[in-house]
Amino acid sequence: MVNFGKLKKFMEIPETAEMLLSQPEKETTLSINLKVGPNKMLIYKGYIVYHNVVLGPAKGGVRFAANVTLAETRTLAELMTHKCALMGLPFGGGKSSIAFDPKSVSEFERRSLIKEYAHMLRDDLATGAYIPAPDMGSTPSDMAIIYGETHHPESVTGKPPRLGGLPGRREATGRGVSTVTTSACRQVLGKEVKDTTIAIQGCGNVGSYTASFLFEKGAKIVALSDVSGGLYSPKGLPITQILDFIQQGKLISEYQDENLQKIKNEALLELPVEILIPAAIEDVLTKNNANKISAKLIIEAANGPTTPEADEILNQKEVVIIPDILANSGGVVASYVEWRNAKSGNQTSAEETYQFIDSKVESAFKEVLRLTKERKANFRNAAYILSVSELMAAMRERSWI
Ligand code: GLU
Repeated sequence: MVNFGKLKKFMEIPETAEMLLSQPEKETTLSINLKVGPNKMLIYKGYIVYHNVVLGPAKGGVRFAANVTLAETRTLAELMTHKCALMGLPFGGGKSSIAFDPKSVSEFERRSLIKEYAHMLRDDLATGAYIPAPDMGSTPSDMAIIYGETHHPESVTGKPPRLGGLPGRREATGRGVSTVTTSACRQVLGKEVKDTTIAIQGCGNVGSYTASFLFEKGAKIVALSDVSGGLYSPKGLPITQILDFIQQGKLISEYQDENLQKIKNEALLELPVEILIPAAIEDVLTKNNANKISAKLIIEAANGPTTPEADEILNQKEVVIIPDILANSGGVVASYVEWRNAKSGNQTSAEETYQFIDSKVESAFKEVLRLTKERKANFRNAAYILSVSELMAAMRERSWI
């Protein structure tokens, strides 16, 4: 949640704008029912939140997780509003979710569930009022199923490239994280990424491509984890081999190399590294561990990895945090290119996608950095000053305030 109390120390925010940005415009709870046999029905909960659509249609991923809630979906939709505004994209903030564990259902059940979800959302998908994309637990082939229901390539992004998806979209969030890490490393630590030590928590889509791009740049990644735990080596991990191993559907805890130390996810966060990249779930940096963090720079590759209490403590410790709405924006930036191509019929290469992400992320980083100096704000507040200014200007133009 945006802390308007804090932001108002830096800028004037009329009450009307605060009211509009403090609550979602629309929230829907779905009961997604699947008849699986005579007298047998499975009912799954789904949530759709449109937070603010002053800049354009609601854009944001669809999350699949057993314990996902409406409140979590709401927070994620709010982040999308600010992420799109900060990146100058013509999208509002949205998010949706289905409460199920993707690992525990059959392929048939998963496909039926997604088809039913798309069917229930058909009007919003057809008019382009909400444009989903992958998020935690969902994949490009899930997006292909949604596309199969709508038949409009611009109704969903993150599709596989041969089905109107964008080459480079899969790697996009990790690409943006690695670019922002490189810029932040130069500006905050005064060095190149190849001369630092990095720990990455999470090895899903975001964590794995972040690791891969940073490793390519020569970074020493000393720790990497997935849900099963992590690996640590002060000398740097053999990232290519570990990522190949994970690609085969294996867990990091099964990786055998006697030169590497096995560590728990909690311990990874507290390692003596210069840069920490939480790239897994939210709320991993809390008041309980914030004081034990050694990193000087935290790059929020996950959405919402830092609780407000931890944020406070880390700020006092002068740890620089590059906020999620800037750090992980590469995904939605690439989604924008995919959506634009779907409308125009244009095609672009992965290299062009990477260049577009880099230029968007680098220029947003520069703007945020300028504001940190000009207003003496931390990176999170500076990013929100920019997104809220953009949203307020659009609200004025549309006579909303
Ligand atoms: N789920 C991603 C995010 O949180 C991407 C959203 C999108 O591309 O619409 O930013």
